[in-house]
Parts: sequence; structure tokens; C-alpha cells
Amino acid sequence: MDFVSIARDPGKPYETVNLPVWRASSVLFSNVADMRAEVAATAAGQMRAANYATAGTPTTFALAEAVAQLEAGPHAARAALMPSGLSAIAATLFAFLSPGDHLLMSDSVYGPARLFVQGMLTRFGVQTTFYDPCVGAGIEELLQPNTRMIYMESPGSYTFEIQDVPAICAVAQRHGILTAIDNAWASPVLSRPFDWGVDISVIPLTKYWSGHADVLMGAAVVREALWPQLHQSVRQQGLCVGGDDAWLILRGMRTLEVRMHAHESHGLALAHWLQTRPEVSHVLHPALPSHPQHELWKRDFRGASGLFAFELRSATAEQVSALCDRRQHFKLGFSWGGFESLMMPGNLTGLRTAEPWSGGPLIRIHAGLDNPAELIADLEAGFAAMAAAAS
Ligand SMILES: *Cc1c(COP(=O)(O)O)cnc(C)c1O
Repeated sequence: MDFVSIARDPGKPYETVNLPVWRASSVLFSNVADMRAEVAATAAGQMRAANYATAGTPTTFALAEAVAQLEAGPHAARAALMPSGLSAIAATLFAFLSPGDHLLMSDSVYGPARLFVQGMLTRFGVQTTFYDPCVGAGIEELLQPNTRMIYMESPGSYTFEIQDVPAICAVAQRHGILTAIDNAWASPVLSRPFDWGVDISVIPLTKYWSGHADVLMGAAVVREALWPQLHQSVRQQGLCVGGDDAWLILRGMRTLEVRMHAHESHGLALAHWLQTRPEVSHVLHPALPSHPQHELWKRDFRGASGLFAFELRSATAEQVSALCDRRQHFKLGFSWGGFESLMMPGNLTGLRTAEPWSGGPLIRIHAGLDNPAELIADLEAGFAAMAAAAS
């Protein structure tokens, strides 16, 4: 199944191209026996069981099943939908970690995920070590007797290190440790984390799956055997999504594959141009041969998305502001993955503890579907504004 044909059958008697939106709280039954059967099926986490709409509706079931199949490919997996990408990360960590457990988390992880771990998880008695994202098989030396999970993100947020995910998963499997990855950057168009051996993939559907910057949602996809534990946690916390939002993700994802190819080529056009600029010391884009883990990226990924960063040789805070404020086509804002092009200054303060960031000021770019020539003109004007701000 592909992004276009999956999750489209509305059932009899009516046939349309798209599924309808179910908006629901109560689910109704014709008799008590049916009600009891549905309660038991829902508690057991069976496919499409819902005695109450917090467990799902046909719209959310269709999306959850599509996400699981597209993300995991031939591997048997189930997905739970959450109100945001961050809530999918938090619910996953809550589902599989208990007081006394040890978590290994990549130092390059999405900032709010780090804050959740340092705050809530620490309060609930989980101990965390942040590791160098480039550790590869050397992760084995960081294992403790109580290590329960290794959490990855590849490429890393802001700094775009590519992790040797298969090597890390091989170590984890030898020791019976769970592996989880944030697959925001690549989406299943470009990477298949379950082929690499991961057990859990968390996806901010907000980003590329939605593609239109108009809805927030996340998913946790787990191997079938882990479903009961994830399902219990999600159910006990009452985490669920509305039908309208699920429908927007279903609509957005139809074009995911073609959009990704446009994001890749636009991003590379900008990255190549930035490499020629004297103000730029490094372009942090894994598809460039100059990227330190370019070979790993070539081995494991089927392409690049539109998100990358560049590092300035030197710039004052005022110059960074001048560069980012002189925009016509780029917008300034958090998040990414929509059709719009975004730029923003990166701030790694407090977000790197294993290897403190020693580079220059970082600017993160999301190459959207705008004409790349116009985006380059924007950056060119930005560099001129940056130079003017120096005097
Ligand atoms: C944006 C993002 C998230 C969180 O997604 P939201 O839906 O915005 O909460 C998680 N991980 C990464 C890598 C992200 O960039």
C-alpha cells in the first residue's frame, strides 16, 4: 500500500474518494451483550474496538492503521495517535519506563523531549544519560544493568548528526533493551526505522505528514508485541485525537511522497549555494559529501528532506537578527514540514550536555515549496543586512 491508496474504503453503501469525518464521544450499542463485548475488546486493545470514542472512531482508526503500515512496512506494528508529536514522545517514555530504570538518550534530541526527561521522568525515578549521537556500537560501554531503553533521533535536531541506528539496535537486541527513534526528519518516504531494527518509532505527524502547518498530531508506532503496554498507557492517560484533525493528516499525507522530493531538491539548492558563501563555515546537511556522517546517510536513507542548518563563521546576536529579519519569502517561526519555507536562529543553550556545542551561530532552514531562486535571493539580502549590522 502507498500514501495515495491506503485507508480510503468507507465501507458500504456509499463510495467517495475520501473517508468522512466521524465526530463522536459516545458510541452506541443495540444491547447490553454487545456493549460488554465491545468493552472487553477495547480493554484488550483489539483492532478497531472502541466502546467510547477516546479509543477511536473509523476516521482515527484509518489513520492509525495507515501510519503503522507505512512506517513499519512488512513488520507487524500498531500505532497510537496523540494530540502532538511531543505528547507521543512523552506517552512512549511513560509507557515503557518505570522508577529505577535507566534511559540512554541522544544528546542531539529534540529540545522539549530532553526537558520532559529532565523534568517529569526524573521526578518519576527514571535516570537518564545523554550520549554522543555519533557513539555507534560504542553505546555498549554506556549500558548499565538497569538500562531499559535507548532513544535516538537521526538526523539530530539543529546539528543533523546521523546516528548508526542499525549498530545501536544490534547492541540493544543483544542485551534485551528497547530502542526508540524520533523519525520526524525523514518520514517513511526516506527511512524505514523498523528495517534498521528499532522497536518504537515516534512521529510528529504535525510536520511532513500533515504538510500544511494547520494541524498538530503525533503517533507512536510499536512492534506488535509492545502494543499492549503502549495501549494501556495511552488509554489510562486518556490520550486521543479528534476526527477533524485525523482527517487533515489523511488529506495531507496523500501528497507526502511528491512533496518530499521537492523539499529535497529545494533544500539542496539552498545548501549548495550556502556552501559558496564566505560568511558560512559549515552547512549541516547529511546529503552533502562534506557532512561527517555522509556515508552512513547514504547507506541508510533514501533521500533528504528540506530541513538543515548552517553555521556562521562569526556573528553578533544583532547580526543574526539582521540576517533572519530581512526576509520576504522565508517566514520566521518554530516547527517545519509544511509547504512554507522557514528560517530561525538555533539556540543550543542547555541542549547539549554530553558534548557541549562549540561551533558558531546556527541558522536552521526549512526549504518549503517556494521557488528556490527566491529563497536564495532572500538569503543574499539577509547576508547584506548582516554585513551592514556589523558597522
Ligand atoms: C516538532 C518536533 C517534535 C514535536 O512535534 P509537535 O507535534 O510539534 O509536538 C518532535 N520531534 C522533532 C524532531 C520535532 O522537530
